[in-house]
Amino acid sequence: MTLATASPNASASRTAAAGLSIVVPVLNEAAGLAALHERLGALATRLKQRYGLACEVVYVDDGSSDATLEIARGLPPTSLDVQVVSLSRNFGKEAALMAGLDHARRGAVLFMDGDGQHAPELVERLVGHWIDDGYDVVFTAKAHRSNESATRRFSVKIFYTLVNWGARQKIPEDAGDFRLLSPRAVAALRQLPERNRFFKGLSNWIGFRQIRVDYEPAPRAHGVTTFNIGRLLGLSIEGLTSFTVAPLRVASLLGLLLAFVAFLFGLSILWETVVSGKSVPGYPSLVVGLMTIGGVQLIMIGVMGEYIGKILSEIKARPIYFVAEHSVKTTDSDSAETPAARTAAE
Ligand code: UDP
Ligand code: MG
Repeated sequence: MTLATASPNASASRTAAAGLSIVVPVLNEAAGLAALHERLGALATRLKQRYGLACEVVYVDDGSSDATLEIARGLPPTSLDVQVVSLSRNFGKEAALMAGLDHARRGAVLFMDGDGQHAPELVERLVGHWIDDGYDVVFTAKAHRSNESATRRFSVKIFYTLVNWGARQKIPEDAGDFRLLSPRAVAALRQLPERNRFFKGLSNWIGFRQIRVDYEPAPRAHGVTTFNIGRLLGLSIEGLTSFTVAPLRVASLLGLLLAFVAFLFGLSILWETVVSGKSVPGYPSLVVGLMTIGGVQLIMIGVMGEYIGKILSEIKARPIYFVAEHSVKTTDSDSAETPAARTAAE
C-alpha cells in the first residue's frame, strides 16, 4: 500500500533518486544525540515511504570534549546510513558544515543543528519544497525571536545590518543554517574555492530557485549555546568581508571628505590671517582635528587589515579541517543502492 503512494509522479521520483544526506555538526551534544538520532530514523522511514528517498546522516564531531563521539559511533543505521566524521579538534561550526558537505554521498544535502532546535519533523516540509515544487535552496527563518534575550536580538540585528551592508545579494534576515540544498545547488557550493566560509551567505549567493520557510526553533534540548556576542560579532565581520568591499570604499570616501574639509579650513585660516590679520590661537581645535583624523585612519587601517588577513588565509590555502576518524555504516536494505566499492574506497 505504501508503494502505491511512494511516487506521486515520475519527475518527483527521478528527483528523489538522488537521495538525501543530512549533515549534523555536533559539539558536546552527548546528552541529546541518541534522541535526535531516533527522530531522524523515524523521519528517514517516512521519507522512504513517501518519496522512495534514501537518506544518510553525517554527524560531524567538531572536537567535542564529552562522550559525543563515542555515542555517535554507536548509533545504529536502522533506517538510514550513518557516517561519523570526527575532526581533529574544534574548527568551528562553519568548518564542520564544510566537512559534512565534503563527506555527503547523496545528491541533496540538508544541514541541521544537533541540539534539537531544528525539528526533524519540519524536514519533511523542506523535502517537499525540493521534490514536489522543484526548489533548489529551501532555507528556514525564525518566525520571531520573542523568546530570546534583548542582547541576543540586538547582536543578531547588528549582525545582519553589517553583513548586508552594501552587499548586492542580501542575506534574508533571520535565515538560519537549517537548510536543504538540491543536488545542483550542492554542486555549485562545492565549486566555491574559498577557505573563509560563511554558509548562509554562500548558499544564498549561488542563486537558483530559493524559498523561505518560517519556523519556530525549539528551545535547546540541553546545554548552552556556544555563540555569544563576541562570536557573533566575529561571524558578522567574517560575513561582511566575504561579501562586500564596501568598507574599503568608505575609507576612500572619508579620506576625500576629510581632505576637502581641511582644504576649506585652510582657506578660511589664510583669509583670516591675510584680511583681518589675526594670529591663530586655536590649540583645542587643532587637537580635536588631529584626534579625529588619527581615529579615522586607525579604523580604516583595521578595516584593511581584515581584508589583508583574509587574503593571507586564502593564500596559505590551508585545509579547512582535519579528519581524525571516519566511519560509514549502511543499512542492510540499502546495501544494494550504496556501492560497496565506494564505501570501501573511503
Ligand atoms: N557547533 C559546532 N561547532 C562549534 C559550535 C557549535 O559544531 O564550534 C554545533 C553545535 O553542536 C550545534 C550547532 O553547531 O549542533 C549550533 O550551535 P549552537 O546551538 O551553540 O548555536 P545556536 O543554536 O545558538 O545558534
Ligand atoms: Mg542551537
